[in-house]
Amino acid sequence: MGQLELKTYPDPCLRIRTKTVEKFNSDIAETLRAMASLMHESHGIGLAATQVGLGLSILVIDPGDGLINMINPEILDRSKEKTYLEEGCLSLPGLTVNVKRSKTVKIRACDENGNFFVKTFDDLGAKAVQHEMDHLKGILIMDYLNPIMRFVAGRKIISGRNAKKTCEVTCNE
Ligand SMILES: [Zn+2]
Repeated sequence: MGQLELKTYPDPCLRIRTKTVEKFNSDIAETLRAMASLMHESHGIGLAATQVGLGLSILVIDPGDGLINMINPEILDRSKEKTYLEEGCLSLPGLTVNVKRSKTVKIRACDENGNFFVKTFDDLGAKAVQHEMDHLKGILIMDYLNPIMRFVAGRKIISGRNAKKTCEVTCNE
């Protein structure tokens, strides 16, 4: 796999609903490695497959205490307590949205070898996982805004982008 390209709004890849990974092969492991390096290069704390145009249930996060790869993540439990965090997104440059999410989440996912693990995340880690799991369903932080603000935010992102034009969009499986 070559270099991955970060997709930014309004790229339709960001709206893909991803599919469950069934084959844990070297392609998946390599995709995870490439996603992690793109995330680190971009100074993000998380990156989901849709953000690089892939329709698979894969994400990486590194909220400050080490890289975690997740394949087919699911939420087993979430705290009733919810808190707000001003979130940004690598795919929505220049935008931050104050999003209310569970303070703690318990996740089950597979690692790159297909082995299940269960992990509980608090605070920033919990926010990052929930943000990236939204991406796997095609949900973006701007969707938490009311329709008018969402429209304004979308226009702002588009006008703020540099002149680089994406003429062709490929959404890979
Ligand atoms: Zn994001």
